[in-house]
Amino acid sequence: MGQIIMHIDVNSAFLSWTAAYEKQMGIDRDIRTVPSVIGGNEQSRHGIVLAKSTTAKKFKIQTGMSLMEARQLCPNLLVVPPNYRVYVRASKAMREYLMSFTPDVQVFSIDECFLRFTDLKREEAVELAYKIKDTIKEKFGYTVNVGISDNKLLAKQAGDLEKPDKCHTMFPDEIKEKLWVLPVEDLFMVGRRTKPKLNRWGIYTIGELANSDYYLISTQLKSHGRMIYNYAWGRDCSTFKTGEPIKSVGNSSTLKFNVCDHETAHVMLLSLTEMTAWRLREANMNCRVVSVGIKDKDFGYAAKQRKLDFFTDCTRDIYINICILFDELWDGKPIRQLGVHVSDLESSNIKQINIFQDELSKKNEILDKAVDKIRSKFGDESVIRGVFANTELSPLLGGYPDDEYPGMSSIL
Ligand SMILES: [Mg+2]
Repeated sequence: MGQIIMHIDVNSAFLSWTAAYEKQMGIDRDIRTVPSVIGGNEQSRHGIVLAKSTTAKKFKIQTGMSLMEARQLCPNLLVVPPNYRVYVRASKAMREYLMSFTPDVQVFSIDECFLRFTDLKREEAVELAYKIKDTIKEKFGYTVNVGISDNKLLAKQAGDLEKPDKCHTMFPDEIKEKLWVLPVEDLFMVGRRTKPKLNRWGIYTIGELANSDYYLISTQLKSHGRMIYNYAWGRDCSTFKTGEPIKSVGNSSTLKFNVCDHETAHVMLLSLTEMTAWRLREANMNCRVVSVGIKDKDFGYAAKQRKLDFFTDCTRDIYINICILFDELWDGKPIRQLGVHVSDLESSNIKQINIFQDELSKKNEILDKAVDKIRSKFGDESVIRGVFANTELSPLLGGYPDDEYPGMSSIL
């Protein structure tokens, strides 16, 4: 009886959570049953599809497509704006529920978790997986996929098989029939850039990758090549990381246009800082290190951080320092992406006397809390700073809390 790993993945998370939330709020519709998408600001003409309903999928609408394109494919499309606060709350509720089955829960992304069990037989694991899937549906009103195996990689691959509302196993003895037959781009960490390279070498399925020339893969694709080669064999040596406290919070946003002046960049940074600071306060944390990252139009990247003299969760404190850092760092090249991060966190329950903080920032702290309250009651954009009014800029940029989920975009 070895370890059992389950991968829990919310089906069309943003759409499902929005639907469940609307039901809870007494809104008389189910956006899952009509052609609908969760999408950014439609008026800005730059919004994209973040999630789509199954009916929308039938119109060939795809995630990442612009809302304009999506509308052309389906004129009656219902576009629902994203509500990250609902997603963060829904994610947390699911995570807490999953902890009632095992204390070993590793958060992988906002809508994905791994569970570990050490005392289950295969058949028992499958039975439990169905129970988890069905009770989530009953309790929370949305569906999940559950993948079952003995390591995280295979559990995740299993969870990605047929969706929605399904449980699948992918144990090592099932790799040949269930994993190797899949197209190589279905393997975790084989992205858009790797796929054409593999295809050029005649590798189209995961099985072909597993049985390819290891020397070629290793020399051409370096450590990433060695990793995906091992993944193709179902090997995953990563450790199971449970209950890690949040180490940093941040947001970055690829901009809709290249930014070439300080003023616009500062407005963007304020937008990113607003969301970051709000998330920091939501997590009941204060930060002492703030950092800014700039990606220019040629994908050159630079970052800089500074340690403050005090711990803070105040938008203004963070913003002022972010702007100073930005001004020191920026070389004037057109900017493609901006990021704001805060780290060196401590719980805000540890109240320290802050001799460095000035009167104004104390007032701002109170203001932040009031704004948070209003926003949580009346919506993200009910209170916006003057600089954002009459602009196309979003007052709260980013908001996709991937940094809280360390494993989201990199390796398991
Ligand atoms: Mg999902």
